[in-house]
Amino acid sequence: MANDNFSSLNLPETQLSNLASLGYKKMTPIQAQSLPQILKGKDVIAQAKTGSGKTAAFGIGLLNGINPRFFGVQALIICPTRELADQVGKEIRRLARFTQNIKLVLLCGGKPLGPQIGSLEHGAHIVVGTPGRLQDHLMKGTLKLDGLKTLVLDEADRMLDMGFADAMKEIISYTPKKRQTLLFSATYPDTIEKMSRSFQRDPVRVTVESKHTESVIEQLFYEVKKHERNTTLLALFEHYDPANAIVFCFTKKQCDEVADYLRDHRIDALAIHGDLDQRERDQVLVRFANNSCSVLVATDVAARGLDIKSLQAVINYELPRDPEIYVHRIGRTGRAGEKGMALSIFTQSEVVRVNAIADYQKKPSICDVPESLDRDPGYSLQAQMVTIQLDAGRKSKLRPGDILGALTGDAGLAGSDIGKIDIFDMSSYVAIERTALRQAMNYLAQGKIKGRTIRARKIK
Ligand code: AMP
Repeated sequence: MANDNFSSLNLPETQLSNLASLGYKKMTPIQAQSLPQILKGKDVIAQAKTGSGKTAAFGIGLLNGINPRFFGVQALIICPTRELADQVGKEIRRLARFTQNIKLVLLCGGKPLGPQIGSLEHGAHIVVGTPGRLQDHLMKGTLKLDGLKTLVLDEADRMLDMGFADAMKEIISYTPKKRQTLLFSATYPDTIEKMSRSFQRDPVRVTVESKHTESVIEQLFYEVKKHERNTTLLALFEHYDPANAIVFCFTKKQCDEVADYLRDHRIDALAIHGDLDQRERDQVLVRFANNSCSVLVATDVAARGLDIKSLQAVINYELPRDPEIYVHRIGRTGRAGEKGMALSIFTQSEVVRVNAIADYQKKPSICDVPESLDRDPGYSLQAQMVTIQLDAGRKSKLRPGDILGALTGDAGLAGSDIGKIDIFDMSSYVAIERTALRQAMNYLAQGKIKGRTIRARKIK
């Protein structure tokens, strides 16, 4: 068990009393686990959410390495949104009160460049910024990172969600190879692992919520008559009310029919199968991943390579013959220690398949079938977000920051109203909170992104 007193760390007395004056009596778990490593100069990849004290973890760490007499940027913190950059800036300024001479500059979009350039010219030790604006300064040569010691990627998963992968790569290319890289992320999808591998050196992994890392998938089987599959499927949604789900079918026709049936019953579902062209497939995947579609009705082949962070339920509309396929299907729920649900509908003629699955998993209890399902006639499953398609993309040099900047700047949306941003060659997709859709569309009908009017439509 790590020691959770700040005094166990090798910090200056002035910092210890500053922390006491801030009311920080003990280290939070993420601080207790990561700070000793950060102070040793190690690269760290930490799973930490807002509220865990992560900002102080990297803040105290990077402040310790700053040389106030060298007027160059020694620490850079990249954040996905201006709001987060603001918060991080404030927290680090508080933590820096123990010494007088440390200068921090915020570089976020939506603010004029001039004063930011002025601040940089006066010498900054720490820069906190959002990817688009950091790129602008790097390209103009107004931000120099040659003397950087510590790089922090804060809410890295959210930055990937927002389409900042290329931007981060570019920014990092301006930093010295020999640097400390700290990566903080609320979730650990494969894309974060990949990012860690390309930007970090032998990182120490820190996870705080380690109690439930074993994933738990509840598996339930429902025997029905052949003509009852659809009504049972609906009953499963009404009873368990998952926030999102994949329903597996065998044929393309079945996928379309089931998706239509669900939509007729007020469940936001889309079908995905081999008959869709590339653009249609991209759109379905974008909408499911950005929470503007709650249910995907898929064939096994079409579901391959889906990158979904947290899926609450997998539903087998029909059981596969091969137990291995079943296990592969249900492995998509209950990831990262979250509880998952695997619900399977089967008919009398598929009992052999149920038995094969039970044998394969050596789990006899999986045939415990609940007696009845609570039905809810008023049930609906509406996605939280809506996707807007913009007729411009990578080819016209549109970047996520441009879209984010226009919507949170001139259009007046809050950063939290905007979800995932996906940029393709000729078009881009941005997820917007349903409640803010009208405001966003009103702006996009006349307003400009990067000085241009871009055609925008809600995709249905
Ligand atoms: P964060 O997860 O970085 O957003 O921090 C959440 C809040 O916890 C912030 O308001 C910090 O000021 C506060 N905080 C950070 N570390 C500590 C600590 N060791 N003790 C008490 N509060 C803390």
